[in-house]
Order: sequence, then C-alpha cells, then structure tokens
Amino acid sequence: MTVDELLAETRHTLADTEAPATEARLLLAAALDRDRAWLYAHGGDPVPDAAAQQARTWARRRAAGEPLAYLLGTREFWSLPLTVGPGVLVPRPDTETLVEAALECIPEGEVRSVADLGTGSGAIALALARERPRATITATDRSPRALERARDNARRLGLAQRIRFLQGDWFGALGKTRFHVLVSNPPYVARGDPHLAALRHEPAEALIAGEDGLTDLRILAAGAPAHLLPGGWLLVEHGADQGAAVRALLEGAGFTAVSSLRDLGGRERVCRGRLPL
Ligand code: SAM
Ligand code: GLN
Repeated sequence: MTVDELLAETRHTLADTEAPATEARLLLAAALDRDRAWLYAHGGDPVPDAAAQQARTWARRRAAGEPLAYLLGTREFWSLPLTVGPGVLVPRPDTETLVEAALECIPEGEVRSVADLGTGSGAIALALARERPRATITATDRSPRALERARDNARRLGLAQRIRFLQGDWFGALGKTRFHVLVSNPPYVARGDPHLAALRHEPAEALIAGEDGLTDLRILAAGAPAHLLPGGWLLVEHGADQGAAVRALLEGAGFTAVSSLRDLGGRERVCRGRLPL
C-alpha cells in the first residue's frame, strides 16, 4: 500500500469528521513519524505495515468521536506545541481571542501579575508567559491531572520558572493575593446542552457549569474584585449566546469599561472589565 492509497482510505474512514483531508494527513504523518510536507513528496512510497496499522486504528477511533488531539497527544495553541490527553480539555482556537484581549491589558515591558484560573493544559498561562517576559504568572486548577499536564507543558517549553502553579477551587487557590489581571476560560456549557454529546471524551468538569452554563462565570465575576488591584482587569471566555448575561455579571460586580470581544467566527466570546482606580 502506498502513502497516497492509505491517505485515500483514511479520508474515507474520516468522511463524517469536520476536515477529513486535513485530519487524514495529520494522522498518517504522525503514524509515519514524518511531517505533512513529506507526504506530498512521497505519495508513491510504500507504507510499512506497522505504520499502516497505527493509522487505521487512529482513524477508526477518530471516526468514533475521540478528539484528534488526544490520539496524537499534541495540539498547537498560540503557535506553542502543547501535549494533551484524556482528562484535560483540548485548547481551542477561540481561546486565542482571550489571549489577545489579555495581552492588551498587560503592557509590554511593565511588571504585571497575572493569574489564569482553570488553566487546564496551561494554554493561556503559557501563551502569556511567552509573550510577556516581565509578567509574573500564576496558573490554577482544581484538577490535579490538569495541573500536572500544565506543569509538564511549561517544562517542555522552558517556561517552568515563569509560572507558579496552585491547586484549588477558583479563588480558594489564591489566598489573599491581588493581581493586575485575572483571566479564565471556565466551564460554561449548560448541563442539558445537546452539544455535550460531541464533547463526551473531554472531562465534564472542564465543560459543564450548572443548569444555565453560568455557575462558574457568576463565581468568577463576584469574587474577582477582592483579588484584583485597583484598575485591574478581569477577562473571561464564555459561550456564544452568553455575552449579554456575562456583561451584566461584570457590571453587577462593579467593573467598568465592560465590553465583549468576538472570536474568529464573529461570535461574542470574551468579556472584559476593569476595576475603578
Ligand atoms: N484554560 C484551559 C483552556 O483554555 O484550554 C482549560 C479551560 S477548561 C474550559 C476549564 C478548566 O477549569 C478545567 O481545566 C477545569 O479543571 C477547571 N475548573 C473547573 N472547575 C473549577 C473550579 N471550581 N476551580 C478551579 N478550576 C476549575
Ligand atoms: N468552547 C468549548 C466548546 O463548546 C467549551 C469550553 C468551555 O466550556 N469553556 O466546545
């Protein structure tokens, strides 16, 4: 079997996924331990049996709904290669909107303290640490498994010295410390949301936030003022239909300059607000 033949077969297996051609290339490249460019130049090469079997196994599991990132063990976020695996949310491209918005609140060259609450794989904290060498970064999660993963990613990227990792429930992890910037992508999916079926391989505790999806966003908005310095910023990611509700939560908690930002798909995805000076 040649590379091109196996690619065609894999595309067919993945026909019902979002991007069969791209995913087939990613799977086959990983099974062959090559990059995707190599596949283009070697379409007529024979595929070793072991690699073909690996590709077929992955393609079957992918077709049955496992996230590609869990199969490959890696996902790129903000151009950083992160390791990911079951038990930890796969970082999403939409969350780069949150990183961009947070960077606007952390002036380059200034010393700022930043906390990423519910860090998961470490995606947001690592992107901010990479972009803002003078910022001191704290990353928290309630899940020990997530924190272990985030620490491992920090080590691999040479950023372990830049980030303090704390385990605990939202603000409980922070003690009495106040920060310049608090950022979080909390769980925000409602318990009965039909969309959850497609997310069944990812941890429910990273996704589900009560009956209306706002439980954790309420806790974050209400608790943030006690953990921010005067003039400090809170930035949170939320569901596409939660913009108005989250603006109201931040305004209700005393934040000013409350505004929403849109993701790459044009949907309201991030809300930020500033404490009065
Ligand atoms: N920040 C990562 C990202 O953007 O890819 C992960 C975000 S995931 C949607 C939410 C994270 O919050 C999970 O890692 C979950 O373990 C954590 N979490 C859920 N409830 C929490 C709580 N009560 N206190 C602290 N972290 C919590
Ligand atoms: N954006 C994720 C999804 O719906 C949800 C992540 C979250 O709850 N923070 O696929």
